[in-house]
Amino acid sequence: MYNEKQGDSEVNKLKAKILIVEDEKDIADIMILYLKKDGVETLWCDTGEKGLDAVSEQVFDLIVLDINLPGMDGFETLRKIRQKSQIPVIIVSARQEDVDMILGFGTGADDYVTKPFSPSVLTARIRAHLRRKEDSGNEADHVFSFGKFKLDSNKQILSHDGKNINLSPREMDLLIFLVLNPGKAFSQEELYKKIWGNNFGDLSTVSVHIRRLRKKLGEDSSLPRFIKTRYGFGYYFQEDNVS
Ligand code: CA
Repeated sequence: MYNEKQGDSEVNKLKAKILIVEDEKDIADIMILYLKKDGVETLWCDTGEKGLDAVSEQVFDLIVLDINLPGMDGFETLRKIRQKSQIPVIIVSARQEDVDMILGFGTGADDYVTKPFSPSVLTARIRAHLRRKEDSGNEADHVFSFGKFKLDSNKQILSHDGKNINLSPREMDLLIFLVLNPGKAFSQEELYKKIWGNNFGDLSTVSVHIRRLRKKLGEDSSLPRFIKTRYGFGYYFQEDNVS
């Protein structure tokens, strides 16, 4: 039966094959369950070594990689993957040190999700990465200019006068989210939910990221041009500045 347009769930099915490297079977099972609902094909490996073998034998669209693994850890596995492939990698970890590492250094990860995670958040992030990869369509949809800045939301590149500006994955997500919703103010709580994907976190993370972003955008913090403060509420991207 031809049912491509039957309801959202059918339309939104992802045609993708994902490698899951995770030593805890329960966690892998949940991921597989949710990804299957999205129509995603999965392969589960419980060690980095097996994951690497899988990467050299098969083609995947994305890898979900745990850091704390028996034997070769996730970082080492990622380094080895990066020697042969630029495939999107989402790191899953429960340790704050890992998150710091991912944010601070060029680990080659495209994104991370902290444990415990909500399966729907993980699948949403996977979706976003697969779309980015897929969508090389019309530039006007995903390239935004403001001042001398150019933001490519698909490739996740911010440049100023042709020079790339390095943003952490979360800074990039935050900037893209604000730019995609120009003129609309969001509270710290809303931004936290949208970008970090859960309700239980330190909201000051948002202002820390806003501060870093403004710095990278060369903003005068007392009079920012792009990321504005709505006092007593939150932040918004100045509408006139996006084209
Ligand atoms: Ca683990």
